[in-house]
Amino acid sequence: MIDFRSDTVTQPTAAMRQAMAAAQVGDDVYGDDPTVNRLEAMAAEMFGFDSALFTSSGTQANLLALMSHCERGDEYLCGQQAHNYKFEGGGAAVLGSIQPQPLNNQADGSIALEDIRTAIKPDDFHFARTRLLSLENTIGGKVLPQEYLARAQQLAFNHGLKIHLDGARVANAAVAQGLEIADITQYFDSVSICLSKGLAAPVGSLLLGDERLIHKARRWRKMLGGGMRQAGILAAAAELALTEQVARLAEDHANAKALAEGLSQLDELALDMSQVQTNMVFATLADEVDIEALVKGLLQEGVRISGARQLRLVTHKDISAADIDKTLQAFKRVLSQV
Ligand SMILES: *Cc1c(COP(=O)(O)O)cnc(C)c1O
Repeated sequence: MIDFRSDTVTQPTAAMRQAMAAAQVGDDVYGDDPTVNRLEAMAAEMFGFDSALFTSSGTQANLLALMSHCERGDEYLCGQQAHNYKFEGGGAAVLGSIQPQPLNNQADGSIALEDIRTAIKPDDFHFARTRLLSLENTIGGKVLPQEYLARAQQLAFNHGLKIHLDGARVANAAVAQGLEIADITQYFDSVSICLSKGLAAPVGSLLLGDERLIHKARRWRKMLGGGMRQAGILAAAAELALTEQVARLAEDHANAKALAEGLSQLDELALDMSQVQTNMVFATLADEVDIEALVKGLLQEGVRISGARQLRLVTHKDISAADIDKTLQAFKRVLSQV
């Protein structure tokens, strides 16, 4: 099955499975797991931070960041489309008593600096205390410009805010620009990254920050039930995600471009090539296309997509260039029938 639903469907590599089987482990809640400790040290170095924390998911890493930067009655500024606003079950509000202040995302995924500036509340007891700005890169597959990050950091600093990056796919953003991950993460006080998406680890994310922040986050992680024991089994694969899978993301980006170019030839689909910057393709299906029939027809051809008028197709390690050709053929055949 050629599965375009998400890059979360990637299977761990053979090397990951071997490393997991052979991993040295200990009780990570005691700080005894040598593989987790090595992963956290390596990630901190690679991203340019004091400390790192291995977490069970990206949602957990973002929640820990929000709860460690903010206290009850504080607020964070984020995009309307931000994962840590829209797709994480309202965790910051539910579990952290932290108010989100969502702001419009521009077409390029950024939040206008002027919108950020005017959303920062004055020090007045009518208002929640604005504490944190949270950005996302990539966002909807799009890369935020480096110059924008520098200006957002400056703005946050000038207003006494901390700045967090939901970098679930920050490795895609780095590879797309020919940069090191640290070139992007340098602008932030904390960063989360998912290892279980395009980087192919079976489980796990990381939160990066200074020692104080990670110390707090470790406490929240335990409270949320995220303290894992022989977690080195997972960290062994996570290490290989960072050492062996980052450069490979360029293939996913090339495959996404080829897929988008092919799909843009089809009358039933509208898509904007300028939005295809990493491993995601968004396309709008013409009104007359029966979505259910399309999804079913593609499944019979061995292609799995999520069905919606606005399609999101995600490329990843387990989709090859040959699979893209097969997919384009399948789309042509099925669209001529539905
Ligand atoms: C997937 C994702 C997350 C959350 O990751 P999970 O591991 O699925 O909890 C956070 N932010 C963004 C932008 C994501 O795409």
